[in-house]
Amino acid sequence: MKDLLVDLKSGNKIKVKVKDVTIGGEEKVFISGPCSVEDLDTMINIAKELKLAGVHMLRGGAFKPRTSPYDFQGLQYEGLKIIKEVSNEVNMPFVTEIMDTRDVEKAIEYVDMIQIGSRNMYNYSLLKEVGKTNKPILLKRGMSATLAEWLYAAEYIMSEGNINVVLCERGIRTFESYTRNTLDLNSVAVVKQKYRLPIIVDPSHGTGLREIVPAMSVAAIAVGADGLMVESHISPDNSVSDARETISTDAMKKIIERINTNKLF
Ligand code: PEP
Ligand code: MN
Repeated sequence: MKDLLVDLKSGNKIKVKVKDVTIGGEEKVFISGPCSVEDLDTMINIAKELKLAGVHMLRGGAFKPRTSPYDFQGLQYEGLKIIKEVSNEVNMPFVTEIMDTRDVEKAIEYVDMIQIGSRNMYNYSLLKEVGKTNKPILLKRGMSATLAEWLYAAEYIMSEGNINVVLCERGIRTFESYTRNTLDLNSVAVVKQKYRLPIIVDPSHGTGLREIVPAMSVAAIAVGADGLMVESHISPDNSVSDARETISTDAMKKIIERINTNKLF
């Protein structure tokens, strides 16, 4: 790969600060929350439980990239207001996906970190637009993206001046259909050895199956991930989207305890 800012030779590992949370430092970072922001009460209740569980940052989508246009598309700007309110109430940073270049300027007033979703990893206009902001960016891997394509996508953001990029491995499409995606932990090992960017793992979209989320979470940490992003809910079966892969806030607490006490197997 040519002209990469993130090449191993070019210096120290990049640490990305999101308010008082540092991604890429000594401490593993846990991001969790529902797939979609559903309503204020539910989001506050989830956030309070997750804070007690040791989660550092909240997640939840307001703009949802759904496969079917007839599925719930998210609360949009109403969702962003909920995000801001909850984040202030529990004093935790919040990451959410922005899908449209036209929303970037307004949305950055509500969120602490912008997520670029898997479907938009190749959206070069959006990558350039968020590269012009000073918000930290969580860049998910495209579902059929090679490692090189993903790193070039990071470069699109960084070359506009914003070097606060965190990669997020979320699984790729393979012939395997038992799981929703195949969680490619190879990418984590490569990025940690050869590149300067922090990388976290999303075992929820990476598997699609809540019963294997804990095992793949500890596997991700064992291979060197800087943290995890996991979908969780106080009532997982009632999640408006992605219920099948969503774990309980209690299960999230157990994953964090296991990792913090080094009980990886
Ligand atoms: C998400 O994290 O909300 C999401 C939609 O994931 P992905 O873009 O990885 O499919
Ligand atoms: Mn989801």
